[in-house]
Amino acid sequence: MRILVCAKQVPDTNEVRIDPVKGTMIREGVPSILNPDDANALEAALAIKDETPGTEVIVMTMGPPQASEMLRECLAMGADEAYLLSDRAFGGADTWATSATLAAGIKKIKKIDMVLAGRQAIDGDTAQVGSQIAQRLKMPVVTYVEDIKIEDQKAIVHRQMEDGYEVIEVEMPCLLTCVKELNDPRYMSIGGIMQAYEQPITTWNHEDIGLSPEACGLNASPTQVFRSFTPPAKGGGEMITGTTVSEIAGSLVSKLKEKHII
Ligand SMILES: Cc1cc2nc3c(=O)[nH]c(=O)nc-3n(C[C@H](O)[C@H](O)[C@H](O)COP(=O)(O)OP(=O)(O)OC[C@H]3O[C@@H](n4cnc5c(N)ncnc54)[C@H](O)[C@@H]3O)c2cc1C
Repeated sequence: MRILVCAKQVPDTNEVRIDPVKGTMIREGVPSILNPDDANALEAALAIKDETPGTEVIVMTMGPPQASEMLRECLAMGADEAYLLSDRAFGGADTWATSATLAAGIKKIKKIDMVLAGRQAIDGDTAQVGSQIAQRLKMPVVTYVEDIKIEDQKAIVHRQMEDGYEVIEVEMPCLLTCVKELNDPRYMSIGGIMQAYEQPITTWNHEDIGLSPEACGLNASPTQVFRSFTPPAKGGGEMITGTTVSEIAGSLVSKLKEKHII
C-alpha cells in the first residue's frame, strides 16, 4: 500500500505577536513548523505502515526551498520518500491553485492508495485544500477523520461531528483529512534524523508536473487578497458586582440578553 501525506510548512502561529505600538504582526524570530494537523496525518500513515509491512509513506509539499527542512523532519519520523514542489510560478497561490499544483504532483506519483491531509493549516486556516485535491483526483473524500481502520481495499473511518461521530466506509483510493484527536504524533528518532539528511528530496517545478505557468500560482488564483490587517484589540472586561449571588447572576443574565448571547 502507498500512502501520500500532504504536509505544509507553516509559521508557528503560537509564537506570532502583535507590535503594541504599530499594531502590526511581528514575524521576526517566528519558527517554521510542520502544520500540526499534518503531523497527525503523517502519524496515521506511519501507524498503518507499522501494522502493514510493505506500506510506503510518501510526503509532499508545495513551498519555497526552505520547506525541505520540514520534509526532513517527516523523513526522520519515518516517511520513506519526500517530494518538494517548488517554483517561482507557484508563488501567490490561493487554495484553488495550491490544490491544482498538489494534485498534479500526486498524479505523477503512480498507484497511490490513500492521500492524507490535515483538516486545516494554521496560517491560511481555510480547510479547503484537502477536499479540492480529492475533487481534482476524482477520489472520494472524508473530512474531520479521528479514527482510521483499513480492511481490504476499504477504509473505515470516524468522521468527527459536533456531538459525536459518523462511521463511514470508503473505497480506496480515497483522501482523508485528519484532526488532532486522531493520534499523538511520534518524535523523530536520532537514527531517523541522521538518515533523513542522507535521503534525497525530489524537487519538481511546473514543467516536471506538466503545468503551464498560467495554470499555477497567482496566475491561476481566482481570489485575491486586497488588504490584510491586524484585528483591533478586544476591549477590557467588566466585573459584575452585587451584594447577593442572585443579584450578580441577574445582572449577568440581563447583560447576556442585551447582547443577544442568550
Ligand atoms: C490571493 C491569495 C494569495 C496568496 N498568496 C500567498 C503567497 O504568496 N504565499 C503563501 O505562502 N500563501 C499565500 N496564500 C495562502 C495560500 O493560498 C494558502 O496558504 C494555501 O492555499 C493553503 O491554504 P490553507 O493554508 O488555508 O490550507 P488548508 O486548506 O487549511 O490546508 C488543509 C491541508 O491541505 C494541505 N496543504 C495545504 N497547503 C499545502 C501545501 N502548500 N503543501 C502541502 N500540503 C498543503 C495540508 O495537509 C493542510 O493541512 C494566498 C492566498 C490567497 C487567497
